[in-house]
Amino acid sequence: MYITTPIYYVNDSPHIGHAYTTVVGDALARYHRLAGHDTWYLTGTDEHGLKVARAATQAGVTPQELVDTVSTQYRDVWDLLDISNDDFIRTTEARHRTGVQAFLEALNASGDVYLDRYEGLYCVSCEDYYKEEDLLEGGLCPIHKRAVEQYSEENYFFRLSAYGDALLAHIEANPDFVYPRTRRNEVVGFIKQGLEDFSISRSALDWGIPIPWDDRQVTYVWVEALMNYVTAIGYGHDDAAFDSRWPAVHLVGKDILRFHAVIWPAMLMAAGLEPPRQIAAHGWLLVGGAKMSKTALNQIAPAELVETFGVDGYRYHFLRDVSFGPDGNFSWEGMVDRYNADLANDLGNLANRVFSMVGRYRSGSVPAVQGSTESDERLRAAAAGALEALGGLARYDFPESLLGVWRLFGAANAYVEDNAPWALAKNPDDAGRLDEVLNALLEALRVGAILISPVMPAIAHRLWEQLGLPGRADTAPYTETAAFDVFPAQTVPGGDPLFPRIDT
Ligand SMILES: [Zn+2]
Repeated sequence: MYITTPIYYVNDSPHIGHAYTTVVGDALARYHRLAGHDTWYLTGTDEHGLKVARAATQAGVTPQELVDTVSTQYRDVWDLLDISNDDFIRTTEARHRTGVQAFLEALNASGDVYLDRYEGLYCVSCEDYYKEEDLLEGGLCPIHKRAVEQYSEENYFFRLSAYGDALLAHIEANPDFVYPRTRRNEVVGFIKQGLEDFSISRSALDWGIPIPWDDRQVTYVWVEALMNYVTAIGYGHDDAAFDSRWPAVHLVGKDILRFHAVIWPAMLMAAGLEPPRQIAAHGWLLVGGAKMSKTALNQIAPAELVETFGVDGYRYHFLRDVSFGPDGNFSWEGMVDRYNADLANDLGNLANRVFSMVGRYRSGSVPAVQGSTESDERLRAAAAGALEALGGLARYDFPESLLGVWRLFGAANAYVEDNAPWALAKNPDDAGRLDEVLNALLEALRVGAILISPVMPAIAHRLWEQLGLPGRADTAPYTETAAFDVFPAQTVPGGDPLFPRIDT
């Protein structure tokens, strides 16, 4: 499994929209590692282009100084959010430049690259041309709502128009190539309208990677950015590494779907490479019903939320409450409610109660015995259901999958009520049953720690330590390690509450 996020453009500081994609990718990568799959997770920063060059001039720094600063902000926020990326690519690195130039040579060798004059209306923020009819009233960019500029220059073009049939055939033969289905239909409709050739270079700009056979031109920043997915894993400099990892699953926002599902696969075909395994597109994360943007001043930095909810509370909320595909809406109140209900109550209280009963009634150690009452069967069935539900992560069913995992905690809380350990503790004849009940509850927490580990890695590990278990919760393959069995007879140290309640 080779999973990528888009590389984030350094004209913007990291906000919860960037973090949504990156947390999704991280949960996916951690899930696949937990399943025992060979997994590689890539993110990075996109650092060239006119917009960056202009922003640097405005800030009175060199482009390199600007991109160094912002790229570090991204690395820092991914550290904060416990992102387990295996690599971080920067498009200003030498390995990227080498790979891009090799890719361009391969593209050129296909015969589908040619020089032509381009005249058109250009949005500097999009770094893209627009047709007059696609602009808003007053000639404004439909995304940035700012005036476009008239450009006229010689560019190299890629003959995208020649790849429509090949793309349609590939999508037909690979039903999950574009996910979800609504996005697939959108891509098919777009291709069927007929594709236009696509400019892959810009002149009069030096903050970029030169076209290898014509140094008056630099590679168009969008084209160069797409190539990170192959240059980072060795294209043009380490063929063996590249062959072992490609093709990728690309996670993207819906606004960059066409670049990834049309232009990029066509370029790969032209360069003699396999198309991506999948392009999975999610919606926008809205704040107060509006898309986040620098100009709207409604961007939220992840650190602002982590302060209150913790890293794992943060990760859980966005996976549990935002369906992958449609737009999602962020609200502080929703985040508090979710935290208190699922984390502080269902899981946190369960762990507290179990640890305190194991301490009070059994001095921290319970014999390895299993019960066989109907109540025990129900708990075991819930654990089996939760194990099954975890597989939904691989299908982007994040809310459904977590809901399924949480049924185990619900069942364990019900099991406590059904068996009333406090009553069993009063009667010496019930000592054997009390052992069985406490053992089953510890086992439910052990299984739970494994199942939450892709989404809440730090809390999973803390719960594991509080259970006194050796090693880590995230040991593959989870289908074996998270099968409900008997909890080992050993000391259970317990510890501080996992999720202190948040007052509204
Ligand atoms: Zn624009």
